[in-house]
This record gives sequence, structure tokens and C-alpha cells, in this order.
Amino acid sequence: MIVVMDNKASKQEVQQVIERLTDLGFQIHLSEGVERTIIGAIGDKAILNDIALEAMNGVEKVVPILQPYKLVSREFKTDDSVVKVGDLEFGGTRIHVMAGPCAVESREQILETAEQVRNAGATVLRGGAFKPRTSPYAFQGLEEEGLKMLAEARERTGLKIVTEVVDPRNVELVCEYADILQIGARNMQNFLLLKEVSSADKPVVLKRGPSATIEEWLMAAEYIMSGGNYNVILCERGIRTFETYLRNTLDLSAVPVAKHLSHLPVIVDPSHATGKWKLIKPMAMAAVAAGADGLMIEVHPNPAQALCDGPQSLTPANFSSLMNDIIKIAAVFDRTI
Ligand code: PEP
Ligand code: MN
Repeated sequence: MIVVMDNKASKQEVQQVIERLTDLGFQIHLSEGVERTIIGAIGDKAILNDIALEAMNGVEKVVPILQPYKLVSREFKTDDSVVKVGDLEFGGTRIHVMAGPCAVESREQILETAEQVRNAGATVLRGGAFKPRTSPYAFQGLEEEGLKMLAEARERTGLKIVTEVVDPRNVELVCEYADILQIGARNMQNFLLLKEVSSADKPVVLKRGPSATIEEWLMAAEYIMSGGNYNVILCERGIRTFETYLRNTLDLSAVPVAKHLSHLPVIVDPSHATGKWKLIKPMAMAAVAAGADGLMIEVHPNPAQALCDGPQSLTPANFSSLMNDIIKIAAVFDRTI
């Protein structure tokens, strides 16, 4: 539930409400706005009937949150959340593009790609170092060596780093190198992993599971937020449908729906959604038109030689051309890249 305090409520009155709720076992999330203070309280709603919160001094009203996800919901926070990654802001007017190879393959590959995507206007470098794949015989990633290469690319280019963490035991290690943790689609409901990143001091990109409903996706975000990490960026990356022409089906409606139901920033990954490089540009443009706050795009210096996801990877030249068109679409909506 949300306790909306009167705009004249004193600090002491706010404190009294917090103490009362804490004593009753509620978890408190305080939001001190310019106009008024709002106290989010998560806990057993059955207790609510027995406490006359609205009778307490300074309380204007008590609003129950009807959705199963609480901290994630628009009811809990009406303004858009801005997730800060250093000096970058996700969820503001600027659209951020995360780009890079599916996997870090070598020092040369990642450094070259980093420079090229930075020159084209990306602000975040992506690249997987831990790559458990559909087949156990496929390339599995360079692990910590790959993380070190990403860190070197950041030093050289100034790009921020996003990389996937697949194992709760590796969260600490990945945090040493990454600016943003990525939870992959297949791990969206790996609740132990979600709990582990919920106490990490890094923003999290949470990909939607291939078969997850929007509600399940938001519940996964709730896991991360309820553990204290409020810096969650949702990522739509295509869902599994009866269609077989594409790798997945990009659910673009998920962008406005997630933004309606939640205050969190939403980005789109057209690479994994389509699996085909020729479709990346049109789908990226559609994503921006649908209101996405960012994009995640796979770029490889030589897609034909890529160890992972070559068919959906853009060449640096094609990525640059995509960025030129994205800038135009973004401008229509008063957004910048
Ligand atoms: C990735 O971004 O490299 C990846 C594996 O994506 P997804 O989890 O969306 O399949
Ligand atoms: Mn990939």
C-alpha cells in the first residue's frame, strides 16, 4: 500500500507513521517528493483493516496497490524512474544505445568493436563473457578474461559496460568489472540469481523471458527491487510464438504496456528478437517510435566469423547507418541519442 502524507505533514508525523508500520512488520520505501512525502509499505495487507492509519496525524490517504508487483508498479511511483549509470541516465529524454558483440571473443575483437560503436554514438558496450549456450558444445565464453577485456575497452573508449551474469556465485566477480549487470532471458525467473543481484550495487538490465508474460517479467523486477536494488531497466527481447521465420517475435506492445504498468525504463533488443540482421534497423526504429528508452544491438566486426549470433549481428557500417536513422526518429519524439 501507499500512504500519502499531507503536504503539510511534519517530519515527525512521517516518522511516526513509519514506526507504526515497521512495528507491524511492513517493509518501508520512502519517497520524499518536492510537494509531499509518500510512504510505500509492503507487507501483510490483512493487518491493514485493523490499523486506523488514516486517523494518524499528517496522513492524507492510504491507497492499496492492486497489482501483485508493488515497488515496480506505476501506482507506487507515478513519475518515470531514471536509472543512473555514472553520468548516463536511462529513462530521461536521451535514448541510450548499448552495442557490441554477442560474446567477447578476443582482445582485438572487443577493442575494435568498442571504438566503432562509440564513434557511431553508442554509450554502452555490450559483450558476454559467460555464455552457457543452447548447445553444450558451442563456445561458452572467455569468463574473467573476457571481463578484463571489457574493462580495457571501457578505459580506452569511455563506454560503460553491460555484461550478463548467469550464476549467483559470479555476481561479485562481474560487479568488479561491469557498470550494468544483465540478466538474460533464460534466467529471468532464476530467483536465486535475482535475489543475488538485488543486493548488488549495480543497475540491472532485466530481459524478458522467451515465454514470460508481462506480469511475470514485472514480478521478476519486483524480486530485484524488493531486495533493495531500485535500478532496474526492463528489456523486451522477443518472445516465443508459433512463428518460425524469425528467432522470436518482437512484442513491441510490451514497451507501452510495461511503461503504463511500471515506472521503470524500458529498452528493446531487436537482435535477439528477430535473429536476422536485415530486420534490426526497422525494428529498432519501431522500438524508438513505441517509446523505448534505449536499445541493445549486436555488432561484430566480421559477423560471418562470429562465434555467436553472427546472423543477427550488424557490421560496424550497418550499425552506423542504423544510428543515423534512429537519431531522426528520436527527434520526432523530442528525444536525443
Ligand atoms: C545476449 O544478450 O547475449 C543474450 C543471450 O540475450 P537473451 O538473454 O535475450 O537471449
Ligand atoms: Mn547474442
